[in-house]
Amino acid sequence: MKETQSTCPYCGVGCGVIIESTGDQITGVRGDPLHPANFGRLCSKGLNLHLTASANVTKQTRLLYPMQRASRNLTPQRVSWDIALDSAADKFAQVIADHGPDAIGFYISGQLLTEDYYVFNKLAKGLIGTNNIDSNSRLCMSSAVAGYKQTLGADSPPTCYDDVNHADCIFIVGSNTAFAHPILFRRIEDAKKANPALKIIVVDPRRTDTADLADLYLPIQPGTDVMLFNGMLHIMLWEGWIDQDFINTHTDGFEALKATVRDCTPEITTEICGIKKADLLMAAQLFATCKASLSLYCQGLNQSSSGAAKNAALINLHLATGHIGKAGAGPFSLTGQPNAMGGRWSSCKSPLPPPPLVPMPTCCCPRPHGVRRKALSPIQSVASRACERPLTHLVKQGMTGPSPQNLQDVWNCCCLSSHQVHCSTTPHLNRSGWNTANPHADATSTSLA
Ligand code: SF4
Repeated sequence: MKETQSTCPYCGVGCGVIIESTGDQITGVRGDPLHPANFGRLCSKGLNLHLTASANVTKQTRLLYPMQRASRNLTPQRVSWDIALDSAADKFAQVIADHGPDAIGFYISGQLLTEDYYVFNKLAKGLIGTNNIDSNSRLCMSSAVAGYKQTLGADSPPTCYDDVNHADCIFIVGSNTAFAHPILFRRIEDAKKANPALKIIVVDPRRTDTADLADLYLPIQPGTDVMLFNGMLHIMLWEGWIDQDFINTHTDGFEALKATVRDCTPEITTEICGIKKADLLMAAQLFATCKASLSLYCQGLNQSSSGAAKNAALINLHLATGHIGKAGAGPFSLTGQPNAMGGRWSSCKSPLPPPPLVPMPTCCCPRPHGVRRKALSPIQSVASRACERPLTHLVKQGMTGPSPQNLQDVWNCCCLSSHQVHCSTTPHLNRSGWNTANPHADATSTSLA
């Protein structure tokens, strides 16, 4: 029997699995005891993963070898890998020759490994020369990304699963974690058993199984999340539960935020959110006064016309109370797929779509935009984002004397969209430009200084 380490493809927890196989047949799947997401555990979905690859299912539904139709109306016939790959490459080349590289597009998935993302981006941008590569995780996480960018200045969740073991308040909003991220929920249950003083607050218009674990459950009216967070901040300010040293040292824009929440009194907040005043006060107190507060949130915040504002308003609570940048504390956006972050790292970055290849109105870059493909060869077209050093030079530097900047440049060359590659001052790379240009910036937010 052979064993292969892999990852469960179903949900955003990304549990490690060990696949057991004999010959070509998968015979079993068990949790990987060394994987840091699940330490050997699997939920019922992961435990039954091997059944999706049983002999009967595989024979009926899986494509086991390349198949090709000679024409659209004919039945597909088995062909060798060499013939299939040559045929695909020829078709791509013909489309590019006839219609240009933008006639090619790729749609990839949050289930891919980061290395897979990298290679697809390299193929699309470095070799074919098109920006048309997108990932389903761009839309899925766009509000979370915008919220992180508005407040933290970068799309990088500052937390990890281990924080669950160090938090003494877990604030779950817009997420039925018990169903959607089962193994993470098992970890929260374990943390609660190990530390009965751990307080869990669940905010959700629906009373889900997740709420059964809550010390405090807030059934707010749908769409009133920003009001709830601003109302909590109003109370924290009034009661002196904010961390003024942290705010002074690490943030800017806090005075504007204070002005925004001035009118979010407990009376107004509870009326709009449809919750009890005592519950609102308790939520604000638990969140602010515990040693480490961890927020877990998912599509209940993200999939909304005001999703970015909801994310930013929640992260504001962490910045106001200093519950960030330490064990057990911080905002933690849960994802729908295991490697949504890998896609964001590899240029399928929301909420910025790939820029159009037309002349851009303002830019510091001396190269005229929109003529890149006619002027440069595919290899030249991935020149560095400073527009000066070709990729081959950077790779050579990276191989002979790697430095973080060289390697970062190589990565950016392969991963950023072609406009970003050619211009070092896109909003994507310029925090102040981002904040003013971002169409999702519809709520006042404080930000890390
Ligand atoms: S929690 Fe998610 S990743 Fe883990 S086994 Fe279950 S479905 Fe798979």
